[in-house]
Amino acid sequence: MNTLYRITKFLTSAAHLSQAPADSGFEVAFAGRSNSGKSSAINALCDQSALCRTSKTPGRTQLLNFFRIDDERRLVDLPGYGYAKVPELVQQQWQGFMIDYLTHRTCLRGLILLMDIRHPLTDYDLNMLDWSAVRGLPIHILLTKADKFNRGPAMAQLYNVRERLHRPAGEVSVQLFSALKRQGIDQAHAVLDDWLALPAPPRSPEAL
Ligand code: GDP
Repeated sequence: MNTLYRITKFLTSAAHLSQAPADSGFEVAFAGRSNSGKSSAINALCDQSALCRTSKTPGRTQLLNFFRIDDERRLVDLPGYGYAKVPELVQQQWQGFMIDYLTHRTCLRGLILLMDIRHPLTDYDLNMLDWSAVRGLPIHILLTKADKFNRGPAMAQLYNVRERLHRPAGEVSVQLFSALKRQGIDQAHAVLDDWLALPAPPRSPEAL
């Protein structure tokens, strides 16, 4: 695992693009429906138990939350979509803000899209795929809570999702992920390292 992510710290929240940190360096955003396992995945990837709170307070979930890895690199938690207690109009406003961010944020290098392995490719997910395609932004999909399935059905769902994506393999990739079992962390880190232009972790002598 790339231990650089352990130093990630909460930086700031933004309700509008104007409140976001300066648009420089490298950013990777995380998107997913409410309850898709987004907070748990960010915590697992940063090897911290409470970086991203897993509680569902609407006040927090409607903001873009920025996390700092170093002066040049940030992770961004986009508002979870579909939180049941939030009115439709407010959901639409969040979506507008997200589209604004996805369309105009120059330092954004890629989007990690989280889907519960039991319910992939919802309308929300398809919209996110479309919005990133408009800009040519690469997407990496984490099929979360993979521990809910045995290996066979999990692999079948992975192939099924790959088949249903209609973008070139270089633009969209998919993997199995479980924050609970810490499955898929190295694979997800490899994508983040690439997008954030992070140096590769030192390899153990046996791996050389
Ligand atoms: P978010 O709303 O997308 O941020 O989702 P959370 O990270 O808060 O997770 C939503 C629910 O799914 C919580 O009850 C988590 O405990 C559960 N969950 C998250 N990741 C996993 C996982 O890898 N395996 C299992 N079995 N449950 C998970």
